[in-house]
Amino acid sequence: MSVLVFTCPKTKEPLRSGIDTDAQSLALVRQLPVSIFCPACGRVHRFTVKDGEFIADTNHPLAPR
Ligand SMILES: [Zn+2]
Repeated sequence: MSVLVFTCPKTKEPLRSGIDTDAQSLALVRQLPVSIFCPACGRVHRFTVKDGEFIADTNHPLAPR
């Protein structure tokens, strides 16, 4: 599984979208708007899917502990 990651425009911290996807599905939703709460600066940022960086991630860091 891979996850879509954005960058906080304020702090430049990586911001995990929690969107687990793959390259094929990602291509279909490039224009989809995404709102993400940013723990780094405490605000909600709006992106579109194409602004995100698509990284391989098998650790599921967003899974509830
Ligand atoms: Zn932020």
